[in-house]
Amino acid sequence: MMQVPLYREHKIMVKMEHQKGIINPNPVYENVTTSVKVKGQEVKIHGLCVGTVAVKTTFKTKKGNGFLSKINILLAKYYTEYMPIWVWAIEHPQGNILVDTGENADSTEVDKYLSKESWYARYQFKNACTVKIQKENEINNQLNKINLKTEDIKLVVLTHMHLDHIDGLKYFPKQEIMVGNFEYNHPDNVFKSILPSWFNPNKLDYRQNKIEVFNQAFPITQTEDLLYIPTPGHTPGHSSLVFKTDDFDIIFAGDSSYDQAQVINGELPGANTSYIKTAVTYTKLLSYANLRKTIYLPTHDANSGKRLVGKSFLV
Ligand SMILES: [Zn+2]
Repeated sequence: MMQVPLYREHKIMVKMEHQKGIINPNPVYENVTTSVKVKGQEVKIHGLCVGTVAVKTTFKTKKGNGFLSKINILLAKYYTEYMPIWVWAIEHPQGNILVDTGENADSTEVDKYLSKESWYARYQFKNACTVKIQKENEINNQLNKINLKTEDIKLVVLTHMHLDHIDGLKYFPKQEIMVGNFEYNHPDNVFKSILPSWFNPNKLDYRQNKIEVFNQAFPITQTEDLLYIPTPGHTPGHSSLVFKTDDFDIIFAGDSSYDQAQVINGELPGANTSYIKTAVTYTKLLSYANLRKTIYLPTHDANSGKRLVGKSFLV
């Protein structure tokens, strides 16, 4: 077969992406590193971008009510711009912690990657989003860029079990993995065939009276400076992590919203298991940020890295 020159392939890709309404097909989201103080001690936090994802505009922003909002995701013609997939690494004094694990390059070939899933699962995936991941940006390589090896990670905490948060798990077979008990037992769009065979996480139950506003939380660290809190809506058991530093709090928010503006404007996402729960989660996030200076970091927010470094607060 004749080899198609690379530049032509690139032109075809760009044309396809313009047809999908994507203006910039290759945005660059630089990794970020910052330091915070915890009990006077310096702690490094890294934002690592493992790749990008564009979703249907109606996936990011709800159009229509109930079932119609789901149909509108599949029928929509246009996509959002490519959004980052952030993984957060905390060099915590009690051991290095990773928040989510990102996506991997195999997922770009959906038919092959999800071959053991249902036809409908593949159809849905292909008609809802499109990912760009390169092997050199998978989480193992991203950790190397900040002089960490996968073995240096002590604990992996998952906000939820969607593939763009769990697909890097394969690099952490020996580490402790944590996920919410409710999330684990009420899976939403979890592709079981791509979970590592050894996957057997510690399932967390929130405890009462651990934090303002959210009330329930599971303390991840002995010092209780890192708390796993319920932020349901995106999935029934979706959780976020609150990191209480000496000067402010940081919320690693997973997919609680796609970006910070959604929370401020009360804009509900289309892809969601409960609009009511998401609305309550938004209200709680804002109430919490009114009580404590809070940096809010959703996984797919183009500005999460900049807000972390610039210490920019939710309210
Ligand atoms: Zn998700």
